[in-house]
Amino acid sequence: MKSSAHSVFIFSFILYYTLANFQPAHLNVVTKFEKKDSITYFERLMINAGLKLVVDYDSTIKVKLLYSTTDNFMRKDIYGDFDKAYLLPYVCKRLAAAQKYLKSKHPGYSLIIYDAARPFICQQMLWDYAPLSASQKPLYVSSPRKTSLHNYGAAVDVAIVNENNVQLDFGTPFDFFGEESQPQKEQQLLTQGKLTSKQIENRKLLRDVMKAGGFSSIKTEWWHFNAASRKIAMEKFKLIK
Ligand SMILES: [Zn+2]
Repeated sequence: MKSSAHSVFIFSFILYYTLANFQPAHLNVVTKFEKKDSITYFERLMINAGLKLVVDYDSTIKVKLLYSTTDNFMRKDIYGDFDKAYLLPYVCKRLAAAQKYLKSKHPGYSLIIYDAARPFICQQMLWDYAPLSASQKPLYVSSPRKTSLHNYGAAVDVAIVNENNVQLDFGTPFDFFGEESQPQKEQQLLTQGKLTSKQIENRKLLRDVMKAGGFSSIKTEWWHFNAASRKIAMEKFKLIK
């Protein structure tokens, strides 16, 4: 009897231990995308592509990757715990120069990065989930077939915050899909009363600062700036994948 009770105890213990540690196969798949793993994975991809941390070039530049939060058009955290801004070394230098120029004009202001190098797999997600019509989508999201300069660490999404860490008013939020986001329509939007002269002035400040650092703006998004053409990037830089 004693021996049988002992066996039951051992069996119960093994059963309990097995059940407590049991994970169905489909959950194991999910585990692979858990935050700790994805941060390591994405950062490794960036380091392998020769990218550097922006804050190592200028620690005063603020970073808040909005795809690492749910505060983006997808309402999904697609970066997990990956929340660092990586760019190609020469792009980091250009951004540091832009920050220096901004601070020479407005010492209390700072650039804030909303997105920098973006893994190619995330580009596919943005393309797949963007709530836009087929004709509108290419205006705001680069097709994975063409790739985005973000996928090489050669583009950055930025805004400016004041001394209280409050973002200046640029007329729309980051990733707002509508004509109000488009620098090419600013004058028309001002006439229509959809943008104020102050909002346009803030955008001009951002463009001046980024241009001083060596970036070019685009016609459709006030927050996006390029440090290379797509042709050069595709020829010379590594795709982050
Ligand atoms: Zn962008």
